[in-house]
Amino acid sequence: MIYLDHAATTAVDPGVFAAMTPWLTSSCGNPSSAYDYGYDARAAITRAREQTAALISASPDRIFFTSGGTEADNWVLCSTARMSASKGRHIISTNMEHHAILHTLDYLEENGFEVTRLPVSEDGFVTPKQLEEAIRPDTILVSVMFANNEIGTIQPIRALSAVAHRHGILFHTDAVQAFGQIPIDVAELGIDMLSASSHKLYGPKGCGCLYVREGIDLPPRLFGGAQENGMRAGTENVPGIVGFGAAAAIAMEQMTETMEKETKLRDFLITQVLRRIPYARLNGSHKNRLPGNANFSFQFVEGSTLLIMLDMKGICASTGSACTASSSSPSHVLRAIGLPDDLARGSLRLTLGRNTTEEEIHIVVDALEEILENLRSVSEDYNRIILRR
Ligand code: PLP
Repeated sequence: MIYLDHAATTAVDPGVFAAMTPWLTSSCGNPSSAYDYGYDARAAITRAREQTAALISASPDRIFFTSGGTEADNWVLCSTARMSASKGRHIISTNMEHHAILHTLDYLEENGFEVTRLPVSEDGFVTPKQLEEAIRPDTILVSVMFANNEIGTIQPIRALSAVAHRHGILFHTDAVQAFGQIPIDVAELGIDMLSASSHKLYGPKGCGCLYVREGIDLPPRLFGGAQENGMRAGTENVPGIVGFGAAAAIAMEQMTETMEKETKLRDFLITQVLRRIPYARLNGSHKNRLPGNANFSFQFVEGSTLLIMLDMKGICASTGSACTASSSSPSHVLRAIGLPDDLARGSLRLTLGRNTTEEEIHIVVDALEEILENLRSVSEDYNRIILRR
């Protein structure tokens, strides 16, 4: 198997697994219990909170663990809306956010809020000028993703948050794809609130967090016990949280080396694909993209067929977001960057990880070249448009 779908999810790192194991077996205490097992579990959560906070240079007491990125996104949007409704009911975001944001915004619209979804450029960027122009006196929140999950474009976060702050507006970023992959310093970047997820950085699935800057009195979304400082009720997922913390610590330690390695392999992959495969284009920015992300469109093929053929050769890839893999309509992200539907349908996302090797890239490029040639040879459009030229 060659796994090139790390943006969908990652395997749990052996170090993470080792850190989690006792919390799944012998150390079974509830962190709220008043005996040693409970105290131990609570101490383990405290340590994980410190490890997670360190990755974004945040204060540990401003990290609130959740069941993942989706919950963090839902929580931050709905609770900010509730908290600030007396000031205004207008929210600004973009048209290529993850559905965890987009569908929550739809829900808020159905409930009396107004949303501006900024269009993105050909490479997937929103500009500070666009944001400035969209701000209204009743704007209460700006939410722009840190890096896109399909095309890997990294937004100019510092410049965007500066615009929001000049107008006294809170700035949130969905950093699920960037967290643990590239450096993030919340204070330096002017981030008020940030969503992250454990399973994108070799931690377990079903765990994530919301960072909320000191001074923001965000209302809770789940009601019940006093866990997470009264911010997120429910018995803590101790193994998940410990695993997330361990994954954050490993990501921090290996970040520079991993970024360098992935960037080099990704650039090699992009160069090879564009050189060897005709009628191919790279989607997203050449420069400001996640180290492990490559997203291509191939004319005259269906991405879904390409995926099956790759799968038959033991190669895992995707056409876009894993969350919408069962949908047959073209990706909203590729539409947002202006791709016509036929090119959007012929897209392929290859996302590299810390264990991806050069040999694997060679195998994948060879496989792609062969599969595309075969698929195109039976494509009516290809034969009609290209071969008869
Ligand atoms: N936001 C982005 C940008 C994502 O890529 C994802 C998952 O792919 C999510 C949110 C949802 O995170 P989770 O799977 O932890 O719910």
